[in-house]
Amino acid sequence: MSGENRYKLLIVEPFHAEGMKLIKARSDVAYEIIEAPSEAELMARIRDVDGVTLRTARLPAAVIERAERLKVVARHGVGYDNVDLEALNRRRIPLAITADANAISVAEHAMFLMLALAKRGVANDRATREGSWAVRNRLDRVDLYGQHVLVIGFGRIGREVALRCEAFGMQVSVHDPYVGHESIGRAGHHPVDDFRALLPEVDVLSVHVPLNGETSHMIGAVELAALPAHALVLNVSRGGIVDETALIEALRTDQIRGAGLDVFEDEPPARDNPLLGLDNVVLSPHAAGLTQQSAVRMAVSTARNVLAGLDGTLDPAMVVNRAVLGS
Ligand code: NAD
Repeated sequence: MSGENRYKLLIVEPFHAEGMKLIKARSDVAYEIIEAPSEAELMARIRDVDGVTLRTARLPAAVIERAERLKVVARHGVGYDNVDLEALNRRRIPLAITADANAISVAEHAMFLMLALAKRGVANDRATREGSWAVRNRLDRVDLYGQHVLVIGFGRIGREVALRCEAFGMQVSVHDPYVGHESIGRAGHHPVDDFRALLPEVDVLSVHVPLNGETSHMIGAVELAALPAHALVLNVSRGGIVDETALIEALRTDQIRGAGLDVFEDEPPARDNPLLGLDNVVLSPHAAGLTQQSAVRMAVSTARNVLAGLDGTLDPAMVVNRAVLGS
């Protein structure tokens, strides 16, 4: 680090050059980039850094406690289950996220999975290539129009999904105990308190909640069994919100019609994960939030957040643990 550098950043996992430009433009900031670090490597590098950016690497309490000068952690993305928030709170270190930089990308991906399942996109593509033209008469494609979708979680992504479902002429119910009925109603959707009671009437279920103690396995064997046999289940949020073992069983036994998954309980899923062998699922590699446009937005937002954290000018809207900004 040269004499003029006041601050040192640790960039854990590189991000788009458009974001790096903002960091390189700061003569008072030095940085080091590390890829896919082990916990031991993080422990070794973190002691004298003022700010950290990270994507999917884990930032456990032991590493945070060792970072004596740490002023800010900026995550490239919005989920933060890989960061020990309690440890940051204890040290009064803000955790910034890239708020809505990829909400629309993820919402579009949910629609892509919904359409792929409804229209049997993968199977029809394969059949057409194989010359099985007669597949067109199988009538296993359905319209989204008129279908009842239950969106669980009405945050940045859930509300964009609900909006797009309305555009398809779907009946949209929303369950989010932390958002007022008026706000859901104003957007033209039906607020639902007891989502389990509604499941027998639901054609498409899409979860858009954070993964935490309350939401882990919130869709399990009981909930899947309550859905009608033609139901589609989507998870573009986090693996583990839908119980994967129960989901595999429901798919194997045709309890539901199909599932669209961007996320898995273990990522990447093991080669022998039964999901990989099922025909009634459409899968993607935790890529919903990663488009050309969102990669730029996320990188710029990550860079702005980490620099603002150093300067003490963080936008509270970007901060998960706002209480630490108070003092
Ligand atoms: P958000 O914080 O804006 O919204 C989450 C919503 O869930 C909030 O409105 C909250 O009130 C609600 N909620 C919390 N607990 C609930 C519960 N028990 N029941 C119903 N609602 C509940 O988050 P977001 O930005 O919309 O992200 C949603 C999910 O998408 C997160 O899990 C995030 O990690 C994930 N995500 C995935 C990708 C991807 O690439 N697949 C990208 C970005 C975000």
